[in-house]
Amino acid sequence: MDAALPAVAEELLQEIQRAFRETSQVSDDQLLALRFVFGAPVVPALDLVDRQSVTRLVSPSGRMVYQVAGSSGKLYTCYSSCHFCSCPAFAFSVLRKRDSLVCKHLLAVYLSRAVGACQEQNISNQQLTAMLLPEEK
Ligand SMILES: [Zn+2]
Repeated sequence: MDAALPAVAEELLQEIQRAFRETSQVSDDQLLALRFVFGAPVVPALDLVDRQSVTRLVSPSGRMVYQVAGSSGKLYTCYSSCHFCSCPAFAFSVLRKRDSLVCKHLLAVYLSRAVGACQEQNISNQQLTAMLLPEEK
């Protein structure tokens, strides 16, 4: 599903999704594994999932993006198909320093998807286009 994640991370998310369907919970072992694989972003990401901060925006064209309300209320745009978040932490820790696989927002997207906690919202093609195109200065 997400080519930029290492296989071990991908498998863990799939395992959580499978187990959650049956038991409606994430086990302690899975939480430990999450912490081991993803590191520091896990706790704030779980908090975002708990607060249902992730919204999947779908347009009639079939394109979709995720919007995550950060702890300050600021909205960040995440693209799971190309593994990207618009926040400064992603640019710094994931892209530049490469010491993290994800930021808390992108991990919140993956976890919300695994446990079915995404809000859904339909938007028009024009609204999506406006989100995808960089703002003119
Ligand atoms: Zn982010």
